[in-house]
Amino acid sequence: MLITHDTRCALDTVVDLVNTVPDDDTTPDGLADVAALGDFVRNHKVSDVGTLSEFDLAAVRKVRGRFAEVFAAPDARSAVMTINELVAAAGTTPRLTDHDGFDWHVHYFAPGASVADHLAADCGMALAFFVVAGEQERLRRCEAPDCRRAFVDLSRNRSRRYCDSRTCGNRLHVAAYRARRKEAAG
Ligand SMILES: [Zn+2]
Ligand SMILES: [Zn+2]
Repeated sequence: MLITHDTRCALDTVVDLVNTVPDDDTTPDGLADVAALGDFVRNHKVSDVGTLSEFDLAAVRKVRGRFAEVFAAPDARSAVMTINELVAAAGTTPRLTDHDGFDWHVHYFAPGASVADHLAADCGMALAFFVVAGEQERLRRCEAPDCRRAFVDLSRNRSRRYCDSRTCGNRLHVAAYRARRKEAAG
């Protein structure tokens, strides 16, 4: 499937958003306060965002929870229900833009939308196009038992199982290797 630059940005943003939720109780929330939300917005170049408030933080966290459901969805139909609710609640105004030197692409968030509605609309539509292309199963959670981070599997044969093969995949390989050696030695 064709993934445009903007869809790619929206996918990266939604994956990073879902992964701001800590894996365990000892890690702090990646969106702990309004300042952290400000950093997130800047790092992901979310455009047209005004002054952020506690209200925005609470709303973004809520949207984040819904997006996590999409990545955990067992099939396309359940992913679709969540995406439809997210996009409907945000309201959308598709419009073409070539801001900041990008080629023509469509923004979905309504003018003046809150940051939560902006993310719900644009990231929601990026995920919607994945489902339309029959690619819902590429929206995954890492299979490492202590991880469960969200990722988008862009491999040719949809074979990726871990969020980052250099950390999670390797960690498991090393653990399996050690277990085999221990068994052989014992
Ligand atoms: Zn854009
Ligand atoms: Zn992982």
